[in-house]
Amino acid sequence: MSITKHLSLTAEPGRTASPAGAAVAAGLSAGVAKVDITNRAAGVVNDALYVKALVLKNEMTTAVLITVDAVAIGEIGYINNDYLPKVCARLQQELNISPANVLINASHCHGVVCSDVDERTFQAVKEALQNMVPVKVGAGSGAEDGIMENRRLKLKNGTEADVRHAYSLPPDEAVAAVGPVDPEIGLLRLDKMDGRTLAVVYNFACHPIQGVPSGGTTADITGFASRVIEDHCSDGTTALFLQGCAGDVNPIWYKDVDHPRNAEVLGNRLGLSTLRALRQVQTREDSRLKIICEVIELPRADLSQRIQKMEAEAAKLVQSLRGTSLNLKTFLHVFVKYHLSSEFPSYSSHRYLHDEAMGRDDLRRLDAENQRNMEQYIRNIHIMEELTRLQTNLALLRKHQADNAAAGKSTLEVKVLGIRIGDFVLVTFPGELSVQVGLNIKQRSPHQRIFVAGYTNGYIYYAPTAQQLMNVGGAQEDSDCLLAPAWQRLYEERANDIICRL
Ligand SMILES: [Zn+2]
Repeated sequence: MSITKHLSLTAEPGRTASPAGAAVAAGLSAGVAKVDITNRAAGVVNDALYVKALVLKNEMTTAVLITVDAVAIGEIGYINNDYLPKVCARLQQELNISPANVLINASHCHGVVCSDVDERTFQAVKEALQNMVPVKVGAGSGAEDGIMENRRLKLKNGTEADVRHAYSLPPDEAVAAVGPVDPEIGLLRLDKMDGRTLAVVYNFACHPIQGVPSGGTTADITGFASRVIEDHCSDGTTALFLQGCAGDVNPIWYKDVDHPRNAEVLGNRLGLSTLRALRQVQTREDSRLKIICEVIELPRADLSQRIQKMEAEAAKLVQSLRGTSLNLKTFLHVFVKYHLSSEFPSYSSHRYLHDEAMGRDDLRRLDAENQRNMEQYIRNIHIMEELTRLQTNLALLRKHQADNAAAGKSTLEVKVLGIRIGDFVLVTFPGELSVQVGLNIKQRSPHQRIFVAGYTNGYIYYAPTAQQLMNVGGAQEDSDCLLAPAWQRLYEERANDIICRL
């Protein structure tokens, strides 16, 4: 069936030998470097953003693993669409590294990077290549389940909503259940021959969007986690974070209004959990290094009917708004009174008892009227909140429907990369995979240390599950998406196929 096709971009392991400056060793060699990419002219900076490069080489193959503290590799945020082709072309021309052997992952933090991030990326790789040393390799797993939550809420009416700052949460009583998270921290440890650690690569799934109290630019949760790891391993260790399947995973306390949101607390905890697991990882000489890079065609969605239906829903909601005598000021006043004392809200009890003794029910009638008005005012508020969710998601659907129409074809090509480094196996995707996709791939894999990195080598927005795509328009992931539901099976099949060949 032919929506998928095999386009192999690799298969030239022998030809990548001897990039400029690389040390030659029989086993596995590695070099690391990091370069600051913070845009300091763009406002307050809380902590620096980095591009980090890890070059790996055995007798046959050279691989480059780059991590960037940025929201995405092109398309949204501050990295332009020409970044990936520019970096790949320079690595090929000046360092003889094939584009098929380059992995670039964005952490998805929302800090502002400098405009010459492509040049700084190239410098990081060049420097890493000049620092190659023989290494021992180890893979492992850690666990952390206290810093994140699934951001999709399963509602009692069968639909799903999500946790965003862009709009209100649905009422508590509408929520029936929440989705999964993946607590696994994937680990690759590279030690020098004398036992000192050279680099730690770790993979975890959570949107690093908690922010810091100052509101300044920050590498967020994963920036703090990397710092904890680097500060507590051998001097000079570089920690490289690979974002996982974080599409529907948020930091915990994301909508707290009582405390300033602080990524440092969550990041420190992720760093400590990573360090705890890292101590258990044994490294050994292991020269296995293999990369498979392929292009998959995925089906684009046709959102036109859903857009029409949502426009009709929005019109119906607007028509369902009803006037009441209250405004915000009087509503808050009566709301507080009626929640302080449900039996005698309008005055003290004796006044009600006196009315009763005189055969009157003036206060009871006033209370009934205020109750009716309050209930309608609250209904209006909930309709307004629902409209804000609907309008925001409808705008995303319109944007992506236009993008899909402009593409002029019913499919979308994505570059997927699989890499094996010793026992560490990783497969990538250029978008925001829902966490269940990663869990499925891990469960099916024959390997024990199998990890999945979204946000890699490009950006095609969210990639929710086929199940989540039954809810198109209800939450960001299923609205901020170019794909039709069949994409999930095609990707998971191909990812498994690549993994089995690594
Ligand atoms: Zn996102």
